[in-house]
Amino acid sequence: MNMRDSEYVMGILMDRGFRKAKSADEADVIIFNSCSVRKHAEDKLFSNIGDLWKLKKRKPGLVIGLMGCTAQSYKDAALERAPLLDFVCGTGNESDLPAIIGDILKDRCRMVAADKVNEKKHEIFPAYRDETFKTFVSIGEGCNNFCSYCIVPYVRGKERSRDAKDIIREIDDLGSRGFKEVMLLGQNVNSYGRGEGTDFVKLLCEINKLKGIERIRFMTSHPKDASIKLFEAMRDLDKVCEHLHLPLQSGSDRILKLMNRKYTVKDYLKLAESYRKILPQGAITTDIIVGFPSETEKDLKETVKVMKAAGFDSAYTFKYSPRPPARSCKLKDNVSEALKDKRLKTIMDIQCRIAEDINARLIGQPAGILVDGCGSKDPRKLTGRTRTNKVVVFDGRPDLVGKFVDVKILSATPYALKGKIV
Ligand code: SAH
Ligand code: SF4
Repeated sequence: MNMRDSEYVMGILMDRGFRKAKSADEADVIIFNSCSVRKHAEDKLFSNIGDLWKLKKRKPGLVIGLMGCTAQSYKDAALERAPLLDFVCGTGNESDLPAIIGDILKDRCRMVAADKVNEKKHEIFPAYRDETFKTFVSIGEGCNNFCSYCIVPYVRGKERSRDAKDIIREIDDLGSRGFKEVMLLGQNVNSYGRGEGTDFVKLLCEINKLKGIERIRFMTSHPKDASIKLFEAMRDLDKVCEHLHLPLQSGSDRILKLMNRKYTVKDYLKLAESYRKILPQGAITTDIIVGFPSETEKDLKETVKVMKAAGFDSAYTFKYSPRPPARSCKLKDNVSEALKDKRLKTIMDIQCRIAEDINARLIGQPAGILVDGCGSKDPRKLTGRTRTNKVVVFDGRPDLVGKFVDVKILSATPYALKGKIV
């Protein structure tokens, strides 16, 4: 989502005559886009801003700004913590950026704009995209779920769905410009359009009809809202890829309750089983947090049990990090850092073995790949992804990047497959 926001801001600035600088040294304006989901990212951000002091000394006219979730959560305090910053732009104020930068260039003032966190974005359609054949499309902003560990509802505001007609217009335009794949983004795509007489499956059906686009992906699905209807749509709509990102977070009912996730392990596994029945070849990936307050070895064992039962194709794994004002901060962060590290390693090792088994079963099978890159040292080493979002490495001509090819899988590791064009 942050990548899409950076690209969007780049686009609106380019529409006002700005150009992309080749490096920070060459730039007149540097904007940091920030994530605040974990504290580590926040600390790194402020140290990166501080590193610019030499450049600022050399180029006193340089404008340095902060956008994204940390901008929204710190507001004025970011100017205090980072004296080099000229402006702070909250998550709802992105379209004000050209005006903010214009004012600073004119008056050399410091500015904070972070008052639109709950507002629906004013629809503008900047043409710029970082890539030429696959891209992100946001279908909404914000989140109403308030999982107890999560800062997102505070820094991205309440859930607002974009109008279907604006999403369709954007994707239709992308299709006519040669884009082949879109990834629809929302904190919880399955609650798209709730209360507005539409829903995510209807949106998928509409997008599926558009010319040009051949693959539709989406993330994230909250297990309390993902449904059999969604899985049937994934099966029936030819462009919707067979990959579901379904964050588990924990396999212990006690921890899930403390996390305010609103489902039990039984609900989760039932959902995963329905998915497997409807899409036997489909992939499921997940997010898991270890070291949530009061998590015991027994809770961790339960998580491992669910990982094995669900058979995840891959998992993003995180150490719990208290994020004020998220409600879990009231609970004592009582799992030591060393224990969090140990638990993280445990689940990463287990996931590695699960993925190894799943991927080994693909050896000898055919797969359709959208080629997405070639090696910088050897341009004949291509990479691409299957519909199930698995990375495949294979030899081929660099001009195949952005095109579809058929490969046969020759070997597999837990993280990627090796293939051969057929
Ligand atoms: N909306 C998405 C995820 C947003 S954040 C969803 O509901 O799944 C991405 C992931 O970061 C979360 O799924 C969670 O696993 C992790 N995360 C969020 N807050 C965290 C925290 N305080 N500490 C550690 N991991 C966290
Ligand atoms: Fe955060 Fe939960 Fe919303 Fe995801 S669903 S953004 S984890 S509050």
